Amino acid sequence: MFNKKTIDDINVKGKRVLVRCDFNVPMKEGKISDDTRIVASLPTLKKLIADGGRLILCSHMGKPKGEPLPELSLAPVAKRLSELLGKEVVFAKNDNVVGDNVTAAVNNMKDGDVVLLENTRYRAEETKNGENFSKELADLADIFVNDAFGSAHRAHSSTVGVASFVDTVVSGYLMKKEIDFLGNAVEDPKRPFVAVLGGSKVSSKISVIDYLLEKVDALIIGGGMAYTFVKARGGKVGKSLLEDEYLDYSKKMFDKAKEKGVKLLIPVDTVVAKEFSNDVPNHVVKIDEIPDDEMGLDIGPETVKLYIEALKDAKTILWNGPMGVFEMSNYAKGTQELAKAMADMDAITIIGGGDSAAAVKQFGLEDKMTHISTGGGASLEFLEGTELPGLAALDNK
Ligand code: ADP
Ligand code: MG
Repeated sequence: MFNKKTIDDINVKGKRVLVRCDFNVPMKEGKISDDTRIVASLPTLKKLIADGGRLILCSHMGKPKGEPLPELSLAPVAKRLSELLGKEVVFAKNDNVVGDNVTAAVNNMKDGDVVLLENTRYRAEETKNGENFSKELADLADIFVNDAFGSAHRAHSSTVGVASFVDTVVSGYLMKKEIDFLGNAVEDPKRPFVAVLGGSKVSSKISVIDYLLEKVDALIIGGGMAYTFVKARGGKVGKSLLEDEYLDYSKKMFDKAKEKGVKLLIPVDTVVAKEFSNDVPNHVVKIDEIPDDEMGLDIGPETVKLYIEALKDAKTILWNGPMGVFEMSNYAKGTQELAKAMADMDAITIIGGGDSAAAVKQFGLEDKMTHISTGGGASLEFLEGTELPGLAALDNK
């Protein structure tokens, strides 16, 4: 179990609080094209403001690689955040991120004031977890709050380095939610606990499969990765996505599942087409009878039924990776049917993975899931059982 301190466990009144946010928002022609991440930061920020903290916010945006690229400045974020908070957000502009004007702005703050620093990746040391930059950030603050889960799997100055030079290090609400659901729900799940894994490749998820087999009661496999498992069982997969070098691994996973008493389900039928395209005819075949000149692009209707049945009694469902090429309407059905079924279930439903989250949003089912993780790479590493450096740096309760 993770037992990390959060902003609910500390007193910030009159203190300088450095908050590592995730303001890595998409920009189009100098404008923020999607402010979801800024909106998501509000509960943490409002709580700290209400408690009388003096907030110094920082974040990276894009990959300026140590150069102060004007198109990746956080200036537009300061403006938008100010509108959303309904109060002034002082943008402490400095190509070095820290410096005299920044220190002055921080010294000028009253309780509840907010200052935003420039893009932390303007500094080349940021992604190298450079000690000087970490110390410079730490010098600004009495308390460090990390609320950027999406960056928790990397040891950078503004996520990890800074934490070793500040006495109090806690998580914000976004980080807390990720820890509660991805971490604790997986470590100590309400059972039955069923995981659904899909997406493109076995190779990108080997450690996830391995790790989850230790935790779940049933593991359901779909998406592109399924065909390697199908072939490992002796099926014919035609032109489907296949990773020959993982056939042995897949066989081992069947053995491991058996050993652990875990139900490991693979598709029984699949939607196939001759090309990776939405504009060619498609049809359904049995899973081990995929013609040589066709490829599987979605799970078939029998598989959908089987999988929904397997999910029915689950108390916790973890889903990572779409069941088919959901970006093309002809192959979205498997993913959509499963998402719809999950949305109506009583179970705790946790969605991890960028494309799975996008699929759930595309189907308009976002609000019906218990938790949709915001960290792509970070969620995946979490599900591999890796200790994320950003989490390790948080104080324990
Ligand atoms: P996530 O981001 O949720 O972890 P992945 O990145 O692993 O998911 O995989 C998502 C991609 O997998 C999607 O772009 C989807 O089109 C692709 N995919 C799913 N099923 C298939 C398939 N049968 N053949 C090829 N690609 C597939
Ligand atoms: Mg992805």
